[in-house]
Amino acid sequence: MYKKGLLIILSGPSGVGKGTVRNELIKDGSLNLYYSISMTTRKMRPGEVNGREYYFVSESEFKKNINSGNLLEYAKFVGNYYGTPKDKVEAMRLEGKNVLLEIEVSGTLQVLGKYSEDPGVVSIFLKPPSFADLIARIKNRSTEPDEIIQERMEKARSELECGHYYQYVVVNDTVDRAAGEVAAIISKRIEQAQ
Ligand code: 5GP
Repeated sequence: MYKKGLLIILSGPSGVGKGTVRNELIKDGSLNLYYSISMTTRKMRPGEVNGREYYFVSESEFKKNINSGNLLEYAKFVGNYYGTPKDKVEAMRLEGKNVLLEIEVSGTLQVLGKYSEDPGVVSIFLKPPSFADLIARIKNRSTEPDEIIQERMEKARSELECGHYYQYVVVNDTVDRAAGEVAAIISKRIEQAQ
């Protein structure tokens, strides 16, 4: 019998550790999980590779993609655009793959609006153990200028209040535990979709 893959949204404030949890999840072959690489106008950070973390594009190229309807959702986040290429997500789901989007809150709301009738959508909000913990993480990992860090912290404070939009809220206290809880949620939803 044909089965479409799940569309899994892993979201939460910037700096909460979505990327680290995502890397753990992708390693778990039983989840049949494929990461959707977003498009962004943000500058590449040291160690990032075009086509691996993101497709890094100019603002005019990003706007072309908006105008031609190529993006499933997009948002402007602290001065840069981020968006999910639509065709790839759909193609993967049609192949039966479970697709993971790692996106911020306003993009999530767009996806939830568009797919409100789709039982294959799973939305998960990753939350820090405390606001202080989140601030420490943003400061520690950032390679960006102070004013951008400040803006990211302000944004994170408002995003922290958005857990109620999601089907599941998971505290990222330790990566292993949080990734385990998210994996259990996904496994349960895979089972329910059988
Ligand atoms: P960063 O610059 O730290 O890589 O990402 C900033 C924020 O943008 C993070 O919260 C990240 O999850 C989010 N983000 C990454 N890709 C997308 C996307 O395609 N769409 C939306 N709406 N947010 C994204």
